[in-house]
Amino acid sequence: MQHYISQLNEAQQQPVFQKDGPMIIIAGAGSGKTRVLTVRISYLMSLGVDAFNILALTFTNKAAREMKKRIADIVGTNEAKNLWMGTFHSVFARILRSEADKLGYPSNFTIYDTQDSVRLISAIIKEMQLDKDIYKPKQVLSRISSYKNSLITVKAYLNNPELQEQDAMSKKPRLGEIYANYVDRCFKAGAMDFDDLLLKTNELLNRFPDVLAKYQDRFRYILVDEYQDTNHSQYLIVRALSDRFQNICVVGDDAQSIYAFRGANINNILNFQKDYENVKTYRLEQNYRSTKNIVEAANSIIDKNKTKLDKVVWTANDYGAKIKVHRSVTDGEEGRFVAGEIFEQKMRNQMINGQFAILYRTNAQSRAMEDALRKRDIPYRIYGGLSFYQRKEIKDVLCYLRLVINPKDEEALIRVINYPARGIGDTTIEKLTVAANHYKRSIFEVMENIDKIDLKLNSGTKQKIDDFVTMIKSFQVINEQQDAFVLTEHVAKKTGLIQELKKDGTPEGIARIENIETLMGGIKDFIEGQREIDGARGALSEFMEDVALATDLDRDTGDDDRVALMTIHLAKGLEFPYVFVVGMEEDLFPSAMSMNTRSELEEERRLFYVALTRAEHQAYLTYAQSRYRWGKLTDAEPSRFIEEIKDEYLEYINPLDTGYRYKPTIDLDIFGDIDKSKLRLAKPTAGMPPKKYGDEPVSSLNIRKLKPIGNAPSNNTNLFDSKLTIGNVVIHERFGKGEVVSLEGTGADKKAEIKFEVGGIKKLLLRFAKLDVI
Ligand code: ATP
Ligand code: MG
Repeated sequence: MQHYISQLNEAQQQPVFQKDGPMIIIAGAGSGKTRVLTVRISYLMSLGVDAFNILALTFTNKAAREMKKRIADIVGTNEAKNLWMGTFHSVFARILRSEADKLGYPSNFTIYDTQDSVRLISAIIKEMQLDKDIYKPKQVLSRISSYKNSLITVKAYLNNPELQEQDAMSKKPRLGEIYANYVDRCFKAGAMDFDDLLLKTNELLNRFPDVLAKYQDRFRYILVDEYQDTNHSQYLIVRALSDRFQNICVVGDDAQSIYAFRGANINNILNFQKDYENVKTYRLEQNYRSTKNIVEAANSIIDKNKTKLDKVVWTANDYGAKIKVHRSVTDGEEGRFVAGEIFEQKMRNQMINGQFAILYRTNAQSRAMEDALRKRDIPYRIYGGLSFYQRKEIKDVLCYLRLVINPKDEEALIRVINYPARGIGDTTIEKLTVAANHYKRSIFEVMENIDKIDLKLNSGTKQKIDDFVTMIKSFQVINEQQDAFVLTEHVAKKTGLIQELKKDGTPEGIARIENIETLMGGIKDFIEGQREIDGARGALSEFMEDVALATDLDRDTGDDDRVALMTIHLAKGLEFPYVFVVGMEEDLFPSAMSMNTRSELEEERRLFYVALTRAEHQAYLTYAQSRYRWGKLTDAEPSRFIEEIKDEYLEYINPLDTGYRYKPTIDLDIFGDIDKSKLRLAKPTAGMPPKKYGDEPVSSLNIRKLKPIGNAPSNNTNLFDSKLTIGNVVIHERFGKGEVVSLEGTGADKKAEIKFEVGGIKKLLLRFAKLDVI
């Protein structure tokens, strides 16, 4: 143990040595927060704290597994076995299972994934005969989700006129009814959605003091990683559980709070001191992950945010290479650059694929990267797209298995009742659903009693329904006697799923069969893993629990050597020697949807901070001047985030002879008599020599470095060819509101004199000016 502690610096050792009481570790990226948690848990155990009494909550299950493995290395596998570690969702799903009856749920409750939830909401909207263009199912779900995460139950909602009014104003006056129906249907189906796992845990701890006392007594030491991204619901759970012993240790970095859009509340970290008494605050300042260039560049970015805690991050590491900035004309070219660079670095520096990560703002950006990597034969893995378990064929199998465990599971039933086709058509399903709603029973129960209810079905249909029920029941019998592998094999065959795919015969069909085989392999591994632990039978329900909460990250065994592709959100907490942050363009990153308020923009900036700080040795920022978005070729300009980094940390690697070059001939008067330093300083991205322009060093403010606001000249749809007229009121990105007072020139040379409310008259060249007419 001593050995591991001595590997920490002094600032890191302090929180390890504080055994009891509330504590918070606030520190920047790469400063060893996660490592401190790992050593702290091991140290607690070495002091005699029982593993059973320690609860550690992490951001992903993969992070929990890795942490557990490290702890096992320190304290021994057997000792580490009983630690409770995992995400909020997985830990509390487990607790809810054993306490489900108190809340009126079966212990075998199903966990609905987002697909299930969206489908159910769509069905409800349809049944209520509402317009699905106004009541967009995904939007409705996200609204309900935010209510649940703020602990606003249906009852609370109905007692809150303000919320109702707010929804009515956004043309959704019946949202409350949808919410009520949704909750009701989930309950009847014996199902919880992801948010319920937290909401119901809160309910459990609030309503049943004895249950609360039991878990308070159990979890005497609670540790939370990535605390900055906990939402209100999670926050309350942690508070309740830690209330008795107050042995709560949270670590986080306010600068990495990136889930506000999903309800994470940065105040949880800011208010920690107020929530507990005698809180010890620790700060770690030394970054061990990245080069000086990366650390300092990251600091310079986050400095731009107003809302932040003061923090120092420094590193003793070398300066390392500068951050490379690359411009390309199209997103395709961007992909080729990234793939080419990986290829070269591998050759030159003997790197392996697993040392590279490509990070992007949105999943859609992966396609161009994938194409380019494939052409270079570079193996890669995309994380966080459609999870393996959500692929159609896999989900089909899983839904049969879900029905075996919980026949009330309506979403599973609807999905497989007529797949493969067995002659139970839509009309029949509708009749069954109506009857189920009428009798307040599940559809399966209606099906079990099909002979006793008159639904005006012909005898053939009744027989088919009966056959289906019998089939599911026969699976249940097998499930009682055999392990999950045997059962799944049986299900795949007996339901006709495999035959259906074989019949298909296309390469996709074959790939689907292979996926099912992969699933079978996964089940086998799971069973064997279980047997190793405690000689368990390898019950289906436990496997399904794992599956329901698995993310794509969790399937990563780290065995195969691949380039990692993922969104920045998913990359939180991870590190890679080489990191490409691609799509560094205005409207993409920062996202057009997150630029309405300063706080949204600051969240985007934190996201950029997270992205950059994943890199150990080398970071790349790449952008394209045009990109296919929503099926259209759109022009793009470099992200403001590139410009926010001090020049000294950047290296521009574009060849000089391609693309747009800034032409000093452009009439510089377009800027009017404004303070030049307020203009965005154009980095010599545009093919200019990186170090010098003319004879002046780039570091001195030089008018020729000022790039006009807007994109490189192109025949895009800028305002210069539009119908801007004298008297128009416009909004300028930087100067604010103004009125057009005169116009001159034509086409690309068209200029407007605009009188801004603040700053007076400015003459702007319209092809560059970012103006909106209001
Ligand atoms: P993030 O904010 O990104 O989650 P973090 O603060 O959790 O980062 P860690 O992931 O724990 O940081 O540590 C970053 C890297 O630095 C890891 O590779 C870790 O092993 C290493 N590291 C941490 N502390 C030390 C130390 N005292 N000596 C050497 N390496 C260290
Ligand atoms: Mg960490």
